[in-house]
Amino acid sequence: MLKEFTIHTPREGFIDITGQVADLLRQKQGEKKLCQVFVSHTTAGVTINENADSDVIKDMLLALNHMVPDLEYQHGEGNSRAHMKASMIGSSVTIPILNGSLHLGTWQGIYFCEFDGPRTRKVCVTVL
Ligand code: ZN
Repeated sequence: MLKEFTIHTPREGFIDITGQVADLLRQKQGEKKLCQVFVSHTTAGVTINENADSDVIKDMLLALNHMVPDLEYQHGEGNSRAHMKASMIGSSVTIPILNGSLHLGTWQGIYFCEFDGPRTRKVCVTVL
């Protein structure tokens, strides 16, 4: 099963999409073993990290911004830093499914990572 949902990002930042992914997962009947979340964009990514303290995702963005300096990039669109951060984070995550539910850790959430908002983005969820 492959499904997509759309999100609107107001600005650079991380958005918790765990609920939307779990909703799509519930739509598939029968045996389910793996859930892949894929982002088909070059200035956004997806990651799994702590959902208990919202300062963690703020710190991740702070660290990424320090790791990717504002250089004299060649790319004419002016968003090269967003492209760099998207590749550093990656464009997919895979979560095991146990008893029909995402087998995430107690403090884990799935985050859409916007590096170039505001944008309208698609998230692709494949359940196997
Ligand atoms: Zn670009």
